[in-house]
Amino acid sequence: MLIDRINQAIAYSHRHNKKVAVMFIDLDNFKTINDTHGHEVGDELLKRVANRLTTVFRDTDTVARFGGDEFIAVIPEVEDIADITRLADRVLKVLGTPFDIEGEELFVSASIGISLYPDNGQTASELIKFADAAMYKAKEEGKNKFALFTKELHEKSLEIFILKNRLHRALERKEFLIYYQPIHDTNTRELIGCEALLRWKHPTKGILSPALFMEHLEEMGLIKDVGEWVFKEACMRAKEWNLGVHVNVSPKQLVFKDLIEFFRSTVKECEVNPELISVEITENSLIKVKEEAVQILQGIRELGIKSFIDDFGTGYSSLLYIKSLPIDGVKIDRFFIKSMESSKVDRTIVKFTVELAHSLNLKAIAEGVEDEFQLMYLKELGCDAAQGYLFSKPIPEDEFKEYLSKFR
Ligand code: C2E
Ligand code: MG
Ligand code: MG
Repeated sequence: MLIDRINQAIAYSHRHNKKVAVMFIDLDNFKTINDTHGHEVGDELLKRVANRLTTVFRDTDTVARFGGDEFIAVIPEVEDIADITRLADRVLKVLGTPFDIEGEELFVSASIGISLYPDNGQTASELIKFADAAMYKAKEEGKNKFALFTKELHEKSLEIFILKNRLHRALERKEFLIYYQPIHDTNTRELIGCEALLRWKHPTKGILSPALFMEHLEEMGLIKDVGEWVFKEACMRAKEWNLGVHVNVSPKQLVFKDLIEFFRSTVKECEVNPELISVEITENSLIKVKEEAVQILQGIRELGIKSFIDDFGTGYSSLLYIKSLPIDGVKIDRFFIKSMESSKVDRTIVKFTVELAHSLNLKAIAEGVEDEFQLMYLKELGCDAAQGYLFSKPIPEDEFKEYLSKFR
């Protein structure tokens, strides 16, 4: 019905030379409220929000719930954009007063994205997509605000579109490569392993870091093939160098039933000692697969492959949860390492994490170690290993080979 209303508004406005505004309204902190107060309170809150929203708009406008905590308003017959921005301000304002639900005061805010017919898009789906993109901009700019879809945003989404198009064939075009970053023993400074980190050699943009394309790989369903390619490469290098290699595994890979079988057959095919292979899985991706996590990790362990929790400390897992996992170690997120020198709290967190790991018989590896102070402190704490620019940035295979021969 929403789509239908947008189409009607477009047809009408087209005849009368007016504009249509599509407003994408996304609540900022709904998930937290749901998590902390429970789903019933969350449901009630959504109803109250809907009620308040309808007080802002006219009868000729349409307000719809688009999904989850997303609402879309359609405003036909727009003459002046200022009317729409005023309306957006009013939406923010009515949501600004706290909601009283079951005796609790709940605060919500919203981020709003606005697109216009005919200025930005010609079809309902374009208008929604562009309003959504503008909403993301509002979020990026700090939430609780609105943003209009602009030419720059359009160019940006076009750029992403082109990037994704290219990404489709990057694997078959052999545009992926792997950089390796050394991992050293904190005490002896000995080289004890490395982490395989994916790079994309883009034909015009140069070497791209996974931050720029990983989410697209996952969304486009390409992560399975790419992830398998990385794993196999890592196995071959581990064998060739007789060195431990860490491989990152995406949460999207964890859902494939043949993951363990793939690991098993690849290790066999490459004739590599599985003890040399470690997989890194982030805390949050384990939480996503819930009960299955233990099973997956158990399967990995039975193959003789080690597993580490990546970016440890940034997720939401409880200590009880970590305790129950068959893992071999944790990688302490570089965020904590970075502020160790300036923040006593972060120093304490690192200290506590190392102690926790050791008491659970796990290894602790610090990420992002950039200077001698950090290394010295980590050594004092008994942190087992360290990785970071102090030793080396991630480097291409050839350079890593030289690094290896230097350290041997
Ligand atoms: P991560 O696993 O936490 O990887 C470590 C990241 O920290 C790497 O970024 C590395 O370049 C960076 N880093 C290392 N030492 C330092 C330092 O001293 N200072 C600073 N500021 N940064 C440092 P990179 O290579 O950009 O990778 C980002 C993330 O991408 C990785 O985080 C990992 O989660 C993901 N990733 C990389 N390769 C793969 C892959 O093959 N598969 C999957 N699924 N994810 C990958
Ligand atoms: Mg990692
Ligand atoms: Mg990490």
